[in-house]
Parts: sequence; structure tokens; C-alpha cells
Amino acid sequence: MSSTAVAPPACLRRPLVVPRRFMFGPGPSNVPPRILEAGANPILGHMHPEIFEIMSDIKSGIQYLFQTKNSMTLALTGTGHTAMECAIFNAVEAGESVLTAVNGIWGERAADMAERIGARVNTIVAPPGGCFSLEEIEKALSKHRPVLFFLTHGESSTGVLHPLDGIGDLCHKYNCLFLVDSVASMGGAPLCMDKQGIDILYTGSQKVLNAPPGTAPISFSDRACQKIFNRKTKPVSFFLDLSWLANYWGCDGKPSRVYHHTGPISAFYSLRESLCILAEEVGDSARLPTVTTIVAPPGYDWKEITAYIMKTYNLEISGGLGPSVGLVLRVGLMGCNSSKANVDMVLTALKNALKHCHKSRV
Ligand code: PMP
Repeated sequence: MSSTAVAPPACLRRPLVVPRRFMFGPGPSNVPPRILEAGANPILGHMHPEIFEIMSDIKSGIQYLFQTKNSMTLALTGTGHTAMECAIFNAVEAGESVLTAVNGIWGERAADMAERIGARVNTIVAPPGGCFSLEEIEKALSKHRPVLFFLTHGESSTGVLHPLDGIGDLCHKYNCLFLVDSVASMGGAPLCMDKQGIDILYTGSQKVLNAPPGTAPISFSDRACQKIFNRKTKPVSFFLDLSWLANYWGCDGKPSRVYHHTGPISAFYSLRESLCILAEEVGDSARLPTVTTIVAPPGYDWKEITAYIMKTYNLEISGGLGPSVGLVLRVGLMGCNSSKANVDMVLTALKNALKHCHKSRV
């Protein structure tokens, strides 16, 4: 008789089969091969110097992504919900007042989390699809005097992108921290943490960043740190205690790091790669959306390309002008010309021009 009461499961003898699928829901999104491959790198120890360097790169990538100079910037082990709890559990003590903006599910969840740690929670509520005016927010801030105001930037349950300008200033006028959930929007809609006066901002790896689920970038302003590191009580969660996390991520200025938890090394590799792609794609952030300049393809005569496209497609695109003569092609899609169909037409024309125009071998 076998000594194991539970037999090895037959299902695990079958090979793993995962279908390819277009992931066009609100997340997770498809992970490009480059990011998947990065995650397949060898595992190292979570306290090895190479991993600390990778964590430092991730931190710089998040600072760029969030447009913040906050040194308290890191990636949590966990998903967007982990970041929600990390923000609320650290910034709020039992008995303190919290205000959440509810125009979909995320404000409701934030209110639930704050209630669980004994905060006094008030909400402002807009119908699904609605937004909050600065006046409404100020009225609630002055009435409830919260220490934290929660707002979702991209409300994935209703499709609302909430305007953020002016809210940070309002919060600060009432000595309140401004917490923004950008899980569904970060990287896909403009957001500047420092400029917009956001005190705590988080996102998830599995949406616009195209990394596997399991890490959650988060950043805290000096104002937020000031409150968090002067708490009277310890945060309710050891795992999400920012003092520990700050040390693990080298954000506390201390010379050595103490083991807190085993970081998800493979997920760090993937996250770093996705931040790399982001830095490459939008590295030159001051781009004109109406006139797209494309580096003239090496080996080709740009004049032949523009002439071919004019002759074949009856379509004008231009070469460079002034300092960019000979270096770029310029495509203007303005007003009614700015449509997906026209973008596709230009791309087809360019593709065929590369096939038909002469390419020098030197
Ligand atoms: N906030 C928003 C706006 C979201 O869209 C989501 C995920 N749908 C979350 C928070 C929670 O993220 P996760 O599922 O990664 O925990």
C-alpha cells in the first residue's frame, strides 16, 4: 500500500497548454515576446547586488512613467489591489477621516478598505459615467476634513477618465493627501504626478505596461512620507509597511537592506523590460501629434520615396525642412485628415515605397 494518502494528480502529467488569445479586455493585456523573454532569465537571490541594481532601474523607470522626482518610488509585490491597500493602510490611522470619490467600483473598494482599518469614511458619489467638479470636491473636503482623498483616474468599470488638474492644490489647502488610482490609465493617458500635486499614485503591471500581473508601481510624495513616517500606530499590515518596503527598495537612505520578503525576481525582470520599452517609445516626449517626423530610411533617397508615393497613391508627404532636410520624412494628418484609415493608407504607401524604391547597398 502506498504511504501517500493523496495520489499524484493525473492532470499534472498532462503538459501545460495555454492558448494564444487577443487580450482586448480591460486587463491583463498581451505581453510581447520581449517582455516574456526577459522574465525567463535565471533566478538570482532577492538580496543579490544584481537584483538591487535591477530594482534601482525599475525605480527610475517608474519615476519617468509617473513623471515624479519622489525618492519613495518602488514596485509592490502584488496587483493593483495590493497598491490600494498599501496606500490606504500606510497613509491612514484608525479613527482618521477618509474621503473617497465613487463613480464606479474602485472608489467603493477604496472606501471598503479604509473602513476595514477603522477609518471614518465618507464618500462623494456620482452616477456611473459621471465626474466630480472642483466645487463638489472642495465642499466635501471642507465638510469632512479627511486626511486622504481617493480618486480613480481611469475608472475601468465605467470608462471615465477623470480630470485631475486643480484637485491636488485643493487637497493641500485642506491638509489632505491626494491619492490617485491609475491602474487602468497609466501610460495610456497623460498624467504628471508632481505637476498635478498627487501625493500617492499607483498602477499595475498588467495593463498598459504589458507586463505579467503581479507587480504594482507606487510612489509617495514627501508630504505623504511626512505623515506616514510620523504615525502614532504601526500600519496594520507588516507586508505593506512602507518603512520596511522603503528599506527593501533602497529608498530610505540607509546603507544596508534588511530582508523583508522575497521579491518576485522574474516579475522584476519583466517589469524592467516593459519600462525599457516605454522609455524607448516615448523617450522623446515632446512630439508634435499633428506632424509626425520619421527618420528617413537609411540607404534610400527620400525624394524617390515621396515621388513614388505621390505618383502611386496621389498622396503628398514631405521631406525635411531647414535643419531636417535629408534626414526625415514628414507626415501631416490634420483635422479631418486625422483618421485611422488615413494612418493605414500612409503606412501602406510607405511600406510599398520601401519595396519599390531603390536601396543602395552601401
Ligand atoms: N483600479 C482600477 C482602476 C482597475 O481597473 C483595477 C483592475 N481592473 C484595479 C484597481 C485592481 O487591480 P488588480 O486587478 O491588478 O488588483
